[in-house]
Amino acid sequence: MAAQGSCTVIVGCQWGDEGKGKIVDVLAEGVDIVARYQGGANAGHTVHVGEDEFVLHQIPSGILHEGKKCLLGNGVVLDIRQFFEEYDALIARGVDLRGRVGVSNRAQLLFPYHRLLDNAAEDSAAQKIGTTGRGIGPAYEDKAGRRGVRVADLGNTEKLQERVHIAQDRICRRVEQLGAVVTEQLDMEMAEALALGDRLLALGTDVGRDISRALLDGRRVLLEGAQGTALDLDHGTYPFVTSSNTTAAAAATGTGIGPTSIDTVVGVVKAYTTRVGEGPFPTACDPKMDEHIRALGGEFGATTGRPRRCGWFDSVLARFAAQVNGLTGLAVTKLDVLDTIPELQVATGYRMPDGTVTDDFPADTWSLSGVEPVYQTLPGWEQSTCEVRKLENLPANARAYLDRVAELANAPVHWISVGSKRSQIIEVA
Ligand code: GDP
Repeated sequence: MAAQGSCTVIVGCQWGDEGKGKIVDVLAEGVDIVARYQGGANAGHTVHVGEDEFVLHQIPSGILHEGKKCLLGNGVVLDIRQFFEEYDALIARGVDLRGRVGVSNRAQLLFPYHRLLDNAAEDSAAQKIGTTGRGIGPAYEDKAGRRGVRVADLGNTEKLQERVHIAQDRICRRVEQLGAVVTEQLDMEMAEALALGDRLLALGTDVGRDISRALLDGRRVLLEGAQGTALDLDHGTYPFVTSSNTTAAAAATGTGIGPTSIDTVVGVVKAYTTRVGEGPFPTACDPKMDEHIRALGGEFGATTGRPRRCGWFDSVLARFAAQVNGLTGLAVTKLDVLDTIPELQVATGYRMPDGTVTDDFPADTWSLSGVEPVYQTLPGWEQSTCEVRKLENLPANARAYLDRVAELANAPVHWISVGSKRSQIIEVA
């Protein structure tokens, strides 16, 4: 029988930090279930509700809407201590979580030894990736290496001890080879993590089954990605990427549903571009504009506080993202950040080191470092858009800018965000 509900994927189309949290928060209003499909505590969504600010790392931001069910799929790597820190902090702030959070029994666990290795590896690397130091890479390595420990394993004490012991031992040896020291603190942290096992197991569920049944019952589901397309393990600027597939197809594998269950894919882009961490960034602004946009947009990482590099809108990347993700529409965020800038640049293509111009996003990351963007200059609108709620009330130049973005990205704009508040959104009919 065909599914009768609706299933929407929200995916970042740049290098992460596109404001997905805000878009998920807005769209969560109209759904019954929100599920995360990849990543771990390296993601940080900042959501503003009234005067309150919530930073969520692992629990989907849909949790801030009363009564919505929030699930973590098998594609995530779950840091138990951090998860319950976030869980308990939400309860302490009055959010009712009873019966609302479920964790896939197939999700991988991220342990303190993964963090230890992440930091030891990054500290000693000649070529740094710019990781968040949360252990995500090593946890996915253990998953692919078939050494990982999954939520369901928490129910089998003997097997659990054995698997943890093997994985921990191997990682500690690697940490020491890298010249770092393993202290007793690791044992303490491991004991803390494992003590939370039963509590996590109680939230364990079959997420794929839950979502499929909900769709058959006519319910609406939102699948939420972390990071962005250019950080996808296969399609991003490898090796300066995250260790999972961030793109829309991973929403199926990362939750346990089939791709035909997904009907809508919303790609989130900022009206400009930012990048945190190392790696090529073709449309980076000159230092003065970089600093200016960073200050206007508050471009500092939600997880690490690191300043983000700021650049112009990159339609080569956006077009690539539209193709890789099969976007049905775009959500353009932070349009208001450009309100005071008199002249805007949009990259329409890249001039390659050999002088040829391409529309395609290059697979070769090293040549991506040498490309010169081909820019089109568009006039700014130099007036505030923060209070605008209807497309026709946007300044003409802002509409022209968005039209050009849609044309170049090859995807229609369905949502425009003009501020961090829930109400600061324009739905394009
Ligand atoms: P995410 O990981 O993709 O959700 O992105 P972050 O949470 O790291 O960054 C988004 C930041 O921008 C948050 O502080 C949001 O409150 C804020 N934000 C989201 N949309 C808008 C917008 O349209 N305008 C402004 N000024 N801020 C926004």
